[in-house]
Amino acid sequence: CGIVACILKDGSAAPVLLECVRRLEYRGYDSVGIATSDPMIRIKKDSGKIDEVDAELDLADLPGSMGIAHVRWATHGLPTAENAHPHTDCSGEIAVVHNGIIENYLEVKEELESEGHIFRSETDTEVIPHLIEKYMDEGMDLEAATATALRKLRGAYAIAVVSSREPGRIVGARKESPLIVGVGEGEYFLASDVPAILNHTSRVIYLDDGEMVILDGDLRVTDMEGNTVEKEIHSIDWSA
Ligand code: GLU
Repeated sequence: CGIVACILKDGSAAPVLLECVRRLEYRGYDSVGIATSDPMIRIKKDSGKIDEVDAELDLADLPGSMGIAHVRWATHGLPTAENAHPHTDCSGEIAVVHNGIIENYLEVKEELESEGHIFRSETDTEVIPHLIEKYMDEGMDLEAATATALRKLRGAYAIAVVSSREPGRIVGARKESPLIVGVGEGEYFLASDVPAILNHTSRVIYLDDGEMVILDGDLRVTDMEGNTVEKEIHSIDWSA
């Protein structure tokens, strides 16, 4: 239902992600989760309200200056800890948050299971990290593997992906689900909507359907074939 991601210059990403994800609470949700990468990926997630899950797990207590976060509105699979996002691949080296619905997830899941992938949730989302893992294992980098995975999937999505195999990088993408990029001073954000990140930057890029963004100390927007797309940076005026 809502996603956030950030790469900070220094400092700890988890408290920033927690604060940003609280600004998405108004959208309604049943679960919350955060993954950080330093570059090892660590995840805290559960069903329940942010305050409850935070009291139980201390969500801001995760190391690393980059990460992804999610508030879930369950569409496939009950609101449980296993079904909460972020979701990972078999190796635990790729983590994904997702808004929307993957329509052909069952056939993709069966195909991946027949190739030996083991799934831990009932969500449609979990096919995304497993597909990315499959393509990275075939030699693709995170960007190409994510684009290839998304070309195989039908449905609506906004996603953010991190991998310990490519430290310092976040890949985002959208189709029929909103996703914006926040451009700070050497810091980058992704979010489902602008208010989530306005505490950190007022410079925003609006991604269009079929676009991907690669954040890694620099910023590049591409189409699903990897061609660079020139985007305008908008300055949001609070008083407007
Ligand atoms: N379809 C996904 C799920 O059920 C994502 C739902 C959402 O947008 O929060 O986990």
